[in-house]
Amino acid sequence: MTNATSIASGNPSEEDRILDALVIGAGFAGLYQLYCLRERLGLSVQVLEAGAGVGGTWYWNRYPGARCDSESHSYCYSFSEELTREWQWSERYPGPAEILRYLNHVADRFDLKRDIRFNTRVTAAHYDQERNIWHVSTGSGDQLKARFLITAVGCLSSANVPKLPGLASFEGDWYHTGQWPHAGVDFSGKRVGQVGTGSTGIQAAPVIAETADHLTVFQRTANYSVPARNAPLTAEFQQYVKDNAAQIRELTRTNTNGHPFHISERLVSDTTPQERLALYEAAWERGGLQFRATFQDLLIDKTANDTAAQFIKNKIRSIVKDSATAAILADIDHPYAAKRPPIDTDYFETFNRDNVALVDLRATPIEEITPRGVRTSDKEYPLDIIVFATGFDAMTGPLLGIDIRGRNGLRLADAWQAGPRNYLGLQVAGFPNLFTITGPGSPSVLCNMPVAIEQHAEWITDCIAHMHNHDLQRIEPNPEAMDAWVEQVNAAADATLLPQATHSWYLGEHVPGKPRVFMPYAGGMLHYRRICDKVAANNYEGFELSK
Ligand code: NAP
Repeated sequence: MTNATSIASGNPSEEDRILDALVIGAGFAGLYQLYCLRERLGLSVQVLEAGAGVGGTWYWNRYPGARCDSESHSYCYSFSEELTREWQWSERYPGPAEILRYLNHVADRFDLKRDIRFNTRVTAAHYDQERNIWHVSTGSGDQLKARFLITAVGCLSSANVPKLPGLASFEGDWYHTGQWPHAGVDFSGKRVGQVGTGSTGIQAAPVIAETADHLTVFQRTANYSVPARNAPLTAEFQQYVKDNAAQIRELTRTNTNGHPFHISERLVSDTTPQERLALYEAAWERGGLQFRATFQDLLIDKTANDTAAQFIKNKIRSIVKDSATAAILADIDHPYAAKRPPIDTDYFETFNRDNVALVDLRATPIEEITPRGVRTSDKEYPLDIIVFATGFDAMTGPLLGIDIRGRNGLRLADAWQAGPRNYLGLQVAGFPNLFTITGPGSPSVLCNMPVAIEQHAEWITDCIAHMHNHDLQRIEPNPEAMDAWVEQVNAAADATLLPQATHSWYLGEHVPGKPRVFMPYAGGMLHYRRICDKVAANNYEGFELSK
């Protein structure tokens, strides 16, 4: 626990005011970081948020079919027993509207909004080494100063709109799923083209197909998906969550991925083909990300993985009636779950509808967008609306979208020219007092996000309290510790099949010019938590702390 001593800095006029901390972003991470620093340490904190409300990812991603793939009872904060007791989720997986209601409830309950400036996009953050403060500039011309700068910008918040020739000439409407109009989009009577078949596209297509006149799905890389089996939560389950909140919290905090289930200890080779089939069938029926937990070795042994891959490909062929379409959907080139595994509601079934067609971009790539639609190497597809479900400039994009400069004017973009380099995913050498919540090099996106976020926000809070208690003003990693961590991040990824999915946003593959580096830490949340705890217990070893 951190101590509750106030270390706020006086009460000078607004322009001279040096805040204790500035937090960028008011999603899950920014809200909790504000709560920790203000309520536990008594710091002066300001959160700057580009959106008009709280929510982060969920403020922007309101596309049709959007839904979280973590189960609702674990996709929430666990720091407050009262909060857990009073909130009730309605469905197995929460959609954006319910998550936004939850986050607004949290923000109101803990009176957080008074320290959040909405509609305020941070454009630059420059470190002033003489005064040991960060100068932060916003799009509206405001200048703020703070001793600590904490980014809570999300991992998937920088939309990747492909630079396709002719897009500006398109006479219809186009949207990126990560910047979805809050008023919604009416597809009725429209010919819609959807580019992209990741988690987002797989969720969106079935819902768009319900109202569109016609939907054409443009698939570049075929993808696995397992049924989500979303459903309303029963009163019994809702009661179970309240009665077992402490155990659920313990479970999510003490496993590899932060989800409320353990990965089986069984190896594929421990089972006969019949036993395997029965286990996969049961997991398919249960639905969700737990499918990945059927065996311990699915992500480390290609032969083991092939059995899961084959099972899902067979499912695709059995669901999709047109064999040519089924063949394109099942022509998957990477191990199962080496890309983030989507879960769906009737995705493959959607291709049995008369108003849905699939285009194989591997065979016939998009050449241009025309005023009328999409032209592939084969033909032109006339469209009224194009939906780009083309993902994000993940993990580094949101950070490099801000002009961040550290000591001696070092630009983060230059420090990370060959890919992200940091210590524990938390700090970068040359950028004192800058913390990056769920930054590259931390488990983040390989973990149930709220669990990863709480761990980072609490670690940062404890670190700042330690600095105060020891009269320390500056922290940054030493370069050797950073190099060693980068090696650990690479080694953790190489011990899995994850880097084998070459078209993966974990590797930054589909953003032109982005260095190809496996970004999240794949050694597991539990292991990572222990490393961070040990570093703190050993007097923040690997960091340089100074007055
Ligand atoms: P994504 O996984 O990166 O998928 C992007 C899709 O667009 C891929 O099919 C990609 O093809 C395609 N694409 C990109 N550029 C293209 C181009 N120029 N031409 C044609 N196709 C192109 O992005 P996402 O689906 O938005 O998902 C990102 C992550 O967000 C997920 O992995 C997940 O972590 C999170 N998410 C979670 C949920 C959930 O909780 N249920 C829902 C949605 C998203 P290639 O594969 O060939 O590059």
